[in-house]
Amino acid sequence: MFTEIRGLNEECGVFGIWGHTESAQLSYYGLHALQHRGQEGAGIVVTDGNSLRPIKGEGLVNDIFNEEKLRAATGHAAIAHVRYPTAGGGGIENVQPLLFRSSTGSLAIAHNGNLVNANHLKQNLERSGSIFNSTSDTEVVIHLIKKSSHSPFRAKVKNALSLLKGAFALMILTKDMMIVARDRNGLRPLSLGKLGDAWVVASETCAFDLIGAEYVRDVEPGELLYITNNGIEVDRITDEVAAPRAMCAMEYVYFARPDSNIDTVNVHMARKRMGRELAREVAGIEADVVTGVPDSSLSSAIGFAEESGIPYELGLIKNRYVGRTFIQPTQELRERGVKMKLSPVVQVVKDKRVIMVDDSIVRGTTSKRIVRMLKEAGAAEVHVMITSPPMTNPCFYGIDTSTSEQLIASSHSVEEIRVAIEADSLTFLTPEGMVRATARPFNDPNGGLCLACFTGEYPTEIFSDTVLPHEKEC
Ligand code: SF4
Repeated sequence: MFTEIRGLNEECGVFGIWGHTESAQLSYYGLHALQHRGQEGAGIVVTDGNSLRPIKGEGLVNDIFNEEKLRAATGHAAIAHVRYPTAGGGGIENVQPLLFRSSTGSLAIAHNGNLVNANHLKQNLERSGSIFNSTSDTEVVIHLIKKSSHSPFRAKVKNALSLLKGAFALMILTKDMMIVARDRNGLRPLSLGKLGDAWVVASETCAFDLIGAEYVRDVEPGELLYITNNGIEVDRITDEVAAPRAMCAMEYVYFARPDSNIDTVNVHMARKRMGRELAREVAGIEADVVTGVPDSSLSSAIGFAEESGIPYELGLIKNRYVGRTFIQPTQELRERGVKMKLSPVVQVVKDKRVIMVDDSIVRGTTSKRIVRMLKEAGAAEVHVMITSPPMTNPCFYGIDTSTSEQLIASSHSVEEIRVAIEADSLTFLTPEGMVRATARPFNDPNGGLCLACFTGEYPTEIFSDTVLPHEKEC
């Protein structure tokens, strides 16, 4: 999934393994499975019990690592990260895991998510003498750990993490411990698995499947795990009463791989149910064929077709070999980029009333291009079905959804958006339909989903100086 044409930038992916002699190689495979979460850069930091050794670079996982580098990185534990492209530019210094060497003990950190109080924490740290090299939240966490007056090291980490507000799925590696933590709302996914006697942690369970690891459970919101040669110790970041769960709904709609399970709910099945819900919400619509915008909407298009009885067809094909090089800033080149990336199957859509299922509308420009593409291929009508509600608010938790002004639904009615994207009809899934479709096994509000970009009800405090994800590093 290369998301630049969608207006939604994916976040990052983290992976960690403790207790395996091939930790670097397995991390490499883990990152492969998580590649869809970030294509800008990737890194692995390995420990052999004596020191920490990084390998990292810019680009895709395959471009960065090779057999020689991985073989040289011997060790029994590793943490790893894939990073998404940011508007503020890249640079190897921003590729995680970040490694901090110190006479009191080196540590590496990998993080997915966005802190809403990072600016506030950073200003306090700067006032007490800390110097920052990047705009990354990760560096704030490191300074908080290093500055903490608590002791021993575990207490420092716990104290530092207790000050963080917002979204984080985080891993810290020292020469003799791996620490895993998840924010108190569980906004970003993080799962725990086992590979033989080794512990494995990953943003998505598809990473476990690729290396043959077994899923154990999801890391609980607010949980802090210490993994050492003595096993796993479970703690909580704070003793506060647990906050309501608020897993990012867009993970189910768009970001996560269909073969991943989040909180035991399979993403493909959730998407199929979203398609079914939509079909029920527009009952009676007349059309000849249902098609999905690849890849994320194929599952929901199948669900829509099953529920409506309208045949599912491959009306749009994705060119899988278009790489990062087509991320082009100008409108004209972007236009060409979409055509390079998606093609209509004329024989499927010509003279047909087409239902086009897609996951979201951010700015509306991509939807308009795809509708036009289908009509140019001869579609008689194009009815757009979106498997999420109108996105009216920005995300402060790590998804680069753009600012409110750039979100077409923040200033346009559904009918106005329909006209703008040149569709014959436009339907969005209701928040209730989305919650039902995910079928999460929790009693928390919205089934423990964050719906803030649709409802404006943020599960955490938002500060006046909270920085949006696209303004800083992952
Ligand atoms: S605001 Fe939207 S994109 Fe951000 S975490 Fe919540 S559901 Fe996900």
